[in-house]
Amino acid sequence: MGDAARDGILHRVRAIVREGVVLLEPDFLAGGLGAIAPRLDALRQRVREEGLLAPHLPPAYGGAGLPLAVFGRLSEELGWSPLGHYVFNCQAPDVGNMELLLHHGSAEQKERFLRPLAAGAIRSCFAMTEPDRAGSNPVWLATTARAEGTDYVIDGRKWFTSGADGAAFAIVMAVTDVLAPPHKRASMLLVPTETPGYRLVRNIPVMGDAGSGYFSHGEVAFEGCRVPATARIGAPGAGFALAQERLGPGRIHHCLRWIGVCERALHMTCERAARRELAPGVRLASKQAVQHAIAESRAEIDAARLLVLRTAERIDAEGAAAARADVSLIKFFVAGVLDRVLDRAVQVHGALGLTEDTILSFWYRHERAARIYDGPDEVHKSALARHVLRPYGVDVEI
Ligand SMILES: Cc1cc2nc3c(=O)[nH]c(=O)nc-3n(C[C@H](O)[C@H](O)[C@H](O)COP(=O)(O)OP(=O)(O)OC[C@H]3O[C@@H](n4cnc5c(N)ncnc54)[C@H](O)[C@@H]3O)c2cc1C
Repeated sequence: MGDAARDGILHRVRAIVREGVVLLEPDFLAGGLGAIAPRLDALRQRVREEGLLAPHLPPAYGGAGLPLAVFGRLSEELGWSPLGHYVFNCQAPDVGNMELLLHHGSAEQKERFLRPLAAGAIRSCFAMTEPDRAGSNPVWLATTARAEGTDYVIDGRKWFTSGADGAAFAIVMAVTDVLAPPHKRASMLLVPTETPGYRLVRNIPVMGDAGSGYFSHGEVAFEGCRVPATARIGAPGAGFALAQERLGPGRIHHCLRWIGVCERALHMTCERAARRELAPGVRLASKQAVQHAIAESRAEIDAARLLVLRTAERIDAEGAAAARADVSLIKFFVAGVLDRVLDRAVQVHGALGLTEDTILSFWYRHERAARIYDGPDEVHKSALARHVLRPYGVDVEI
């Protein structure tokens, strides 16, 4: 794709986000998704008509077929609002589930699950983490899928299954062979949420907010939940390998979304610093401490973007496996930048930053999770250190 075509798409996306999506935020903050549902749908319809829905997917599935590096830039534009990715139908976890089904789903799975997901007709969720097992050790799962005739019977409990509320299906990681080596024990299974034995127990309150629909994190029980063997994605025991593949580009998507969040937070910080007077004629922006906060955020965001785009280009050119260490690097680095930029933005806004009168406090609450999900900071730092230290004959244990 040429620079002009890319810039044209980015320009259109920016207009929809900044002149449409952002306007829904006050009502969203006051009343949740329910308060804006019809207007959100109308915006999605506009995006659909402009041919920009699910931009990460190939045209055969209605997408724009953008390479990762271009989709990454677009993701930054969408990150300007917490509603941006949803309006364009490329929100997590659906975006990862779509890519998984695209590359590894059977023809039947693609028709039944991927096509309506890509069209934005349904939503999905990804159920891997469990309340009683450390999520940072993804090969240690308690949930089992026992083979019975031509079926699997799933038993176990998952939590932090984002978007489970209202999802049409879940992709579940479950142990299908307890005797296999740890990395080959689990498989991924597609479970329609109307299947008997599947139960959404609750939306877990996160920082005081249980949310709903796409903005929620569910606890999900599997109690004798029976699905046919054709529900398995890929080979038996391939679950861990598929999860790794799903998470590589997924982390790029997160990182670029976070840079969009940071850009908006910095923009708001600058606007506030330029307007707010501490005394007649003495603006906040005249204080050196505020100037330094702005300078630090500017520098960190620019560094983060360069690192993420470098990683996206490497994945496009050499594949996800070649960029594994780079992905670990950006995952913890950009999550840290996000944390600090949001904190500075709240600080400069004073008490206003803690209210629902701006989007900052929503992000401050919800984006703290960035340093935990898709691998906590510590795990990614160890993974990177392993890569850096290998030439020195040191094998770092993660
Ligand atoms: C908002 C949110 C959304 C999520 N969405 C999903 C989802 O859709 N689907 C899903 O399956 N999961 C989801 N998760 C779960 C997420 O992936 C896990 O929380 C994550 O993998 C960490 O697992 P854990 O919470 O069990 O923490 P633990 O594994 O118990 O780790 C706790 C802490 O220990 C430290 N730690 C862990 N390992 C090491 C190490 N090797 N060295 C040093 N310190 C370490 C870290 O500080 C870590 O935060 C979500 C989580 C959040 C917060």
